[in-house]
Amino acid sequence: MIIVMSPEATEVNIKKVQDKIVSVGLKCHLSQGASRMIIGVIGDKKIISGLQMKAFDGVEKTVAITEKYKLVSREFKHEDTIVNIDGVLVGGDHLGIMAGPCAVESMEQLQESAQAVKAAGAQFLRGGAFKPRTSPYDFQGFAEKGLQMLKTVGEKTGLKIVTEIVDVNAIDMHCAYADVLQVGARNMQNFELLKVVGKSKKPVLLKRGMSATISEWLNAAEYILSEGNYNVILCERGIRTYETFTRNTLDLSAVAAVKELSHLPIIVDPSHGTGRWQMVRPMARAAIAAGADGLMIEVHPHPEVALSDGDQSLTPENFDVVMKEVSQIAAMMGKK
Ligand code: PEP
Ligand code: MN
Repeated sequence: MIIVMSPEATEVNIKKVQDKIVSVGLKCHLSQGASRMIIGVIGDKKIISGLQMKAFDGVEKTVAITEKYKLVSREFKHEDTIVNIDGVLVGGDHLGIMAGPCAVESMEQLQESAQAVKAAGAQFLRGGAFKPRTSPYDFQGFAEKGLQMLKTVGEKTGLKIVTEIVDVNAIDMHCAYADVLQVGARNMQNFELLKVVGKSKKPVLLKRGMSATISEWLNAAEYILSEGNYNVILCERGIRTYETFTRNTLDLSAVAAVKELSHLPIIVDPSHGTGRWQMVRPMARAAIAAGADGLMIEVHPHPEVALSDGDQSLTPENFDVVMKEVSQIAAMMGKK
């Protein structure tokens, strides 16, 4: 349930409501809107339905939420969330562009990628040091050595680092090197991992599972918020359908759906969403036109020799073309 306080509600009114909620064993989360306080109540449904909150001074109305997720919902927080990654904003009218190779392969490869994506206008360098590969015989990433390379290149270029975490026990290590923790499609419902990144203070990029519904995805985000970490960016990266021409089916309607259902920023990954570099450019344009808050794009200085996802990686030259087109569409959409 959500309790909407009236604009005139005093701090004492709010405190009394909070005390009541806590006294019956429920949890409350406060969200300060532009003119009023919204209080999310979480816990046993039966206890919640017995609360008579409308009788409290300062309470304007109560709204029952039918979906299981609450903290991520637009009902709980009307205004768009803007995630602040050490001064780089994503969400609202701020566009976040994350680009770089699928995997960190060498210092040279990473530096070349970073220079290229920065010159084209990206604020984030992406790159996997721990790669969850379908086959155990494929390149698995350079692990901590890869994270060290990312940090070094991030510090040199000023780009923020986005990299995937796959292991709950590696949280401290990732927090030491990364600016944004990526939870990949294969781990979207790894609930222990969601709880661990939720307890950390680092912004999280939560990719949609390849067979996850939008509701399951938002519930996964709810795990992170419910642990106290409100800095979550969603990433649509395509879902598995009967289509085989593309690697996944990029569900751009998810952008519009998430915008309606949630206040969290959502970016789009047309690289994994299509699996074909030729399709990245039109889908990147379409994603921004659909209202996405940013893009994640794989860029490799030499895609033909990439150790992973070369087929869907853009050359620096092609990425530059995409960025020029995207910035025009972004301006039309009122994004910076
Ligand atoms: C990646 O970003 O390289 C990746 C593995 O993505 P996903 O989890 O979307 O497959
Ligand atoms: Mn990849």
